[in-house]
Amino acid sequence: MVKAEQVHKSFGLIHVLKGIDLEVRRGEVFCLVGPSGSGKSTFLRCINHLEKISAGRLYVDGELVGYRQRGERLYELREREVAFQRRDIGMVFQRFNLFPHMTAAENVMEAPVQVKGIARGDARRIAEALLERVGLADRMNTYPAQLSGGQQQRVAIARALAMDPKLMLFDEPTSALDPELVGEVLDVMRQLAEDGMTMVVVTHEMGFAREVGDSLVFMDDGVVVESGHPRDVLTDPQHERTKAFLSKVL
Ligand code: ATP
Ligand code: MG
Repeated sequence: MVKAEQVHKSFGLIHVLKGIDLEVRRGEVFCLVGPSGSGKSTFLRCINHLEKISAGRLYVDGELVGYRQRGERLYELREREVAFQRRDIGMVFQRFNLFPHMTAAENVMEAPVQVKGIARGDARRIAEALLERVGLADRMNTYPAQLSGGQQQRVAIARALAMDPKLMLFDEPTSALDPELVGEVLDVMRQLAEDGMTMVVVTHEMGFAREVGDSLVFMDDGVVVESGHPRDVLTDPQHERTKAFLSKVL
């Protein structure tokens, strides 16, 4: 579903991603862990072309991200075509980024109505079903300010799902939450995984990675240091840098 081949990313003189190779298979929960500044968010943002890669190849569902290839040459897609690619990718951030002036249901309806042109009545029914799925059937008409952080993050997940994505990207979705609210968000993600969603998850929740993850990549300083099944990497890390990192977060 996602394939990275020697992906590099620089910001000016700062070389952030230094040749990332990895593959995320369909239906897999792929966990990305690593120290602060190692390039995890940058890599996620490259997957939906919020950042342009500097070198290498990045594919989602067999399609080059942000480019079209003709012969040996790459042509950058136009903004409309990029937007079209992004429709299939849901993203959930650390901060919930809900529209404050819209209710939970309106937040979830927004993209289907605005981007897909779905009739409001139909979008409303989709939003209700999704909010029910994330355990918020009784909060449809509540504004974000009246919701807890965990509830807001579940609305954000429902909103991402409303575009019926084939891939979901999560960037530390629980790290801004009070500890007692983390579980309800992880439960929704676990359910999503059981339903077969392909997910790339940047997280420090090693319990989640171990129980739900199918693959885990440990990244440091812009390179993949170690990868494998989460149980193997977490219980028997092979590299010093992985060991040092895990000793701090486990
Ligand atoms: P964290 O765990 O703290 O979220 P991360 O692994 O997600 O860290 P990134 O946010 O990807 O790390 O950042 C990697 C490096 O890239 C950092 O040194 C950061 O300062 C740099 N960087 C990220 N975005 C930009 C940008 N837009 N311009 C310049 N440098 C950037
Ligand atoms: Mg980050």
